Amino acid sequence: MAKGQLIVISGPSGVGKSTLIRSLTAKLQRQPFFSVSATTRKMRPGEIDHVNYHFITQAEFDRMVAQNEFLEHATYAAHSYGTPAAPILAQLEAGRDVLLDIEVQGALQVKRSYPDAVLIFIAAPSFGELEHRLRARGDTAEDAVRLRLQTARREYEQANCYDYIVANDDVDRCVQKLLAILTAEGCRRKYNDEILKEALSYVISPHV
Ligand code: 5GP
Repeated sequence: MAKGQLIVISGPSGVGKSTLIRSLTAKLQRQPFFSVSATTRKMRPGEIDHVNYHFITQAEFDRMVAQNEFLEHATYAAHSYGTPAAPILAQLEAGRDVLLDIEVQGALQVKRSYPDAVLIFIAAPSFGELEHRLRARGDTAEDAVRLRLQTARREYEQANCYDYIVANDDVDRCVQKLLAILTAEGCRRKYNDEILKEALSYVISPHV
């Protein structure tokens, strides 16, 4: 059976990635498997353990790293984040697409260990617009805004290695582009070998 696709979506803080992923998946006919990451950061109000993340201690995280249980792992804003490998590999093997919402260092590790992964970077229409959006939230101190912008700049540097860059100028337009990418990726020959095999093994009978 053809394996599922591994789709990785990253983007800087404030770019609107969560909204995009929600509207994208609402439009997909086949629901992808959402990986639940492990993290050492504290749970935020409204979050549910084992739904949003597996909230674990640093000791447990280190044990999982030592036992090679992560497909990738990274440190972000002084906390550890990792994607448990086993559920993802099982889903891909069963032919289901898997969606990862992870930051850039982790995405690049995924590409190294799983070159078929499709890496999509969501960018703001311009860097000035990203600054504007982060400030418009109004709930973030000046130092924190600057830190996020510096982090974003490093993320843009690494986005160099991504397969696709999609600017989020408008949610609907951006979702259309993401759908187009997933549709095109699904048409790659490696996922459609069966069609060629069937045609090539077809016995053309003499016309009677
Ligand atoms: P937050 O703490 O706001 O939920 O996420 C912070 C950042 O960590 C986001 O960019 C998110 O995409 C990323 N992230 C979430 N889970 C993982 C993971 O398993 N691995 C990596 N590398 N990044 C993750």
